[in-house]
Amino acid sequence: MPFSPFCHLIASLWHNSKEIRRIGVYTSGGDAPGMNAAIRAVVRVAIGKGLEVFGIRSGYTGMIESQMVQLQLRDMANIIQRGGTVLKTGRSQDFLKREVRQKAVDNLKAQSIDALVCIGGDGSFRGARTLWEEHQFPVVGVPGTIDNDIFGSEYTIGFDTAVNTALDAIDKIRDTADSHDRLFIVEVMGRNSGFIASHVGIAGGAEEIFTPDALTTVDKAVDHIRESQKKGKRSSIIVTAEGQKPGRAYDLAVAIRKKIGLDAKVCILGHIHRGGAPTAMDRIWASRMGAAAVESLLSGQCDVMVGVDHNQMVFIPLETAVGTEKKHSPELVHLSSILST
Ligand code: ADP
Repeated sequence: MPFSPFCHLIASLWHNSKEIRRIGVYTSGGDAPGMNAAIRAVVRVAIGKGLEVFGIRSGYTGMIESQMVQLQLRDMANIIQRGGTVLKTGRSQDFLKREVRQKAVDNLKAQSIDALVCIGGDGSFRGARTLWEEHQFPVVGVPGTIDNDIFGSEYTIGFDTAVNTALDAIDKIRDTADSHDRLFIVEVMGRNSGFIASHVGIAGGAEEIFTPDALTTVDKAVDHIRESQKKGKRSSIIVTAEGQKPGRAYDLAVAIRKKIGLDAKVCILGHIHRGGAPTAMDRIWASRMGAAAVESLLSGQCDVMVGVDHNQMVFIPLETAVGTEKKHSPELVHLSSILST
């Protein structure tokens, strides 16, 4: 698997200094379908390689409170198909304090944990970085977030399931939009990124897609809807990302009403995206990434994230993954606009 010279350097330095016998695995930040498949892969690959594995509960909270339990092969039975995370996840303000992180590291050492696999988003990776930078505690990251907003990987665990869940909802909404000749505005998640919106939008045949990069404006959307109506279109669906500018779905509905007097129905999908059984794609990548994370630690490579590039597994320095913005391509938004005329 390809990895950068930077990681090589860290790898050799670290590898010479310590052998790994016991690893910890935790999920942190927003949950994402497929996290369980990644945990399962970490546990089973690690045990297969002769390591012991400890599950850390609720992310950094469990590290601080020493909620850690040894995991066996059978503990991973029947979880690959389940959404959420069996290890629980969490957000910890306390972990932002240096002295609290010291306590977390003391707890890890007290359990004889030598290295960690962190499954989470960019915030969780920032936390992971501090463990390496401040304490030389080896960590490898596995990108788990429905938002797909992590630089260095084309794909993050949970994204495919979230897109398919939202798509299922849009297909249903379209039936109602069509029956009532209505305009619907469907708001999808994604924080400040437009990946879910653009993918759901094109797959669901949306008339317009609003993303936080402001590729579409209210004026353009209104013109497009009017044009389509003249050509005989009677119902439309606008997909909008929660972080879209200048506002959220209800703001968009007000703006459209003001401009053309059209009364749009708003549907905010919200946390429904997060749950549910992971798709095959999420399970496969989660399994591969979890396995690669263990291999990475065993080869002495840490402070990296496992990523996907052109369908290949790659390793990206965590510093790069958290310090670089993943750009959203305008291509899908433009194409959707052409296809929905
Ligand atoms: P996600 O991993 O989904 O992006 P968050 O941004 O909420 O989720 O981050 C998860 C947790 O990671 C935070 O609650 C905090 O405990 C930890 N974290 C985030 N940023 C930092 C940081 N700069 N230093 C230390 N820990 C951090």
